[in-house]
Amino acid sequence: MKTEILKIDLHNIDSQKIKYAAQVIEEGGLVAFPTETVYGLGANALNKTAVEKIFKAKGRPSDNPLIVHVADKKSVGNLVLRIPEKAEKLMDAFWPGPLTLVMDKQSIVPDIITAGLDTVAIRVPSHPIALALIREAKLPIAAPSANISGKPSPTDSKHVINDLYGKVDVIIDGGFSNIGVESTVVDMVVDPPMLLRPGGITLEQLEDVIGNVRIDPGIAQKNLDGKVVPKSPGMKYKHYAPKAKVVIVEGEIQKVAEKINELVKECESRDIKVGILATDETKHFYPENLTVSLGSRLNPETIAANLFNAFRDYDKTDVQTIFAEAVDSSGIGLAIMNRMNKAAGYNIIKV
Ligand code: AMP
Ligand code: MG
Repeated sequence: MKTEILKIDLHNIDSQKIKYAAQVIEEGGLVAFPTETVYGLGANALNKTAVEKIFKAKGRPSDNPLIVHVADKKSVGNLVLRIPEKAEKLMDAFWPGPLTLVMDKQSIVPDIITAGLDTVAIRVPSHPIALALIREAKLPIAAPSANISGKPSPTDSKHVINDLYGKVDVIIDGGFSNIGVESTVVDMVVDPPMLLRPGGITLEQLEDVIGNVRIDPGIAQKNLDGKVVPKSPGMKYKHYAPKAKVVIVEGEIQKVAEKINELVKECESRDIKVGILATDETKHFYPENLTVSLGSRLNPETIAANLFNAFRDYDKTDVQTIFAEAVDSSGIGLAIMNRMNKAAGYNIIKV
């Protein structure tokens, strides 16, 4: 398939290019576009055949439902049976933005989107190109992350081109996604609402607006043994995994550094190529040529923004084992540690 790459400046959006991309969506095609979280792979959410193409292009398991992207709060009414009061409050507080709300669906939403569930996940993205595309198409756009299933979510158009060139109609190149981790997913059908996936909006931010939010026990721990199945179907998959084995080291920072240096020596004595994921505050503890800083612990948003790109960069090297420092799991740290844990298959050393 021929893939067109449309370069669009988010500060000066070319309406002709948006019109073209919107037309591709209307005609049942696939358009990858930037959002503030990660790049999405979009299709007309009301067209079953178009949505099928998303699953095929990504190699996505059909039991993993998609998020529907709309332009504003009032577009939600057409897709859900009811909007719970707390959902309304969250929409007012965080939309447009990296928050996805799960509500009871109307029959107009095809089963393929929801993987047969009675609920649908919806969000309003804040990225100007994403919003312009949805408004122009005048349709809800189903869009999972624009990566091949199993690879880290794309935070730059070059990641999308790597994964999906030749498999989709259009890739919009709109620069970096500044948040860098996916949206927070909250189940609003239950009360108190339940956090199904930590993401760009933090648990603390949610609780400030609606009070108690429970965390799905399926995401809080290693759940691949099948004993605790996450409620959000996508969370059971070992996404985000780079080629190299990832080992997380958690604890007091000095001890973490000592442990990682010890593990590095051990690997090197066995000719295993290693990499170290550290932070601005800790990178000086390690050999410079092995170490990548993800950002500052004082500004964990930078760590979130760089994480997936770092994993993808390692895929281009012959590094076999990556040692990653754990970060504080409050705020955005909950999403960072969730993605790191998945990349590591919950391989954590506590010191
Ligand atoms: P992605 O768009 O690739 O980031 O994946 C979307 C995420 O939203 C996956 O983890 C899905 O399991 C989750 N999701 C989508 N729809 C629903 C739903 N109706 N109920 C629970 N989780 C959902
Ligand atoms: Mg994804």
